Amino acid sequence: MTEGDTRNSQRMGPDSLGCGPHIPALSESSRPLRQQIFERVRAAGSIPRVQVAKELAISPATVTTLTSELIEMGLVEEIQAPRDGESGRGRPAVALGVRASAHLVAGIKLAERENTAVIVDFAGNLIADLAAPRQSQVMELPALVETIDDLLARICAKAGITRDALSAVGLGVPGFVDAADGVAHWSPILVARHVPLARAVEARLGLPVRVDNDANLVTLAELWFGAGRRLSDFAVVTIEHGVGMGFVLNHRIYRGARGLGMELGHTKVQLDGALCRCGQRGCLEAYVADYALAREATTALNWTSRETQSTNMLLESLYDHAKAGNAAARSIFHRAGRFLALGLANVVNLFDPELIILSGERMRYDYLYANETLAEIQALALNTGRPAPKIEIHAWGDLLWAHGAAALALSAVTEGLLAPGREIAAQ
Ligand SMILES: [Zn+2]
Repeated sequence: MTEGDTRNSQRMGPDSLGCGPHIPALSESSRPLRQQIFERVRAAGSIPRVQVAKELAISPATVTTLTSELIEMGLVEEIQAPRDGESGRGRPAVALGVRASAHLVAGIKLAERENTAVIVDFAGNLIADLAAPRQSQVMELPALVETIDDLLARICAKAGITRDALSAVGLGVPGFVDAADGVAHWSPILVARHVPLARAVEARLGLPVRVDNDANLVTLAELWFGAGRRLSDFAVVTIEHGVGMGFVLNHRIYRGARGLGMELGHTKVQLDGALCRCGQRGCLEAYVADYALAREATTALNWTSRETQSTNMLLESLYDHAKAGNAAARSIFHRAGRFLALGLANVVNLFDPELIILSGERMRYDYLYANETLAEIQALALNTGRPAPKIEIHAWGDLLWAHGAAALALSAVTEGLLAPGREIAAQ
């Protein structure tokens, strides 16, 4: 045996029979066929059986068998669709659609300034929505659960239903959230760390609850209802109190090995740089988030007398000054924009997304995404000679995020019914 052979046999242990990755039977890419059919019907809105067979490259007989099961389960129904190219002659074609009334779910987003909630049906139609201002304060878990209970009661009343009509609740909170086990490891709205949030809320509401961080929720909203429906790989970067990111890889949210990935706000853009609220230095968030802008405003504009003002009011004043031509105010936004460009160029170089969506309240501060910022991203991303990914600004409100929470609940219901045992992989 040569030296090389020895090294090889040491590298491969007794588990080295065969080669290639061990992919579990029900992995992300091989969902049960019945579930794939359901997802195809849901995405299309209305689709004939023959088209489903064609798109999934399976026999029409298989589609007929599996859709009968879906119809029997009450998840899918036959709908009459007008035939193309025929002037009303003969029987109308029969298509399949999701039975909208099969399930109702609630989506709730808790934020530092405003809580929002929606109720949607099984086909994703909005039934009711609600926005409630919130005192910006860190809460103990029982108070937070109380707030959620109260929000749910109010949105149910608005929808004219009782809460037992709901099949699941999706819940979004800012911070580090492990979606798989429903634990909020850290959140700016919670005093404690490592809080088993999903379990606590489930116990109070008596309903299945899925929890995720707010950046993933807005990404889900884009994936389910927005610009990302037809894209396989895209990023959503959220800028408000912090800088968050959600990433879709092959039409699914990428969550990392331990459910805590994509913390763009805490990637470092400066060695030993500005102090971040996570306790480390040089994080992107420490240069771009609202508290970072407010900190600079207080210093550069000599606003020490305004230290008692809310961050929001400080930022509004800062924006007004910048618009009026104040050089110091402008330079604060300009510098933040350059750091943002640095962070986004890193995203481009790492992931090569088709699209980057910038989303969040700060989007109204157009200095952050001025043409200079976009040009800077181009300059910092690798020059391959190909066009750079598109960057879109979506300055939508908190209700969008609640929609993402509803998508989380919808997928939990679907996974529970069609892929038992895989509920935690819901998205
Ligand atoms: Zn940080």
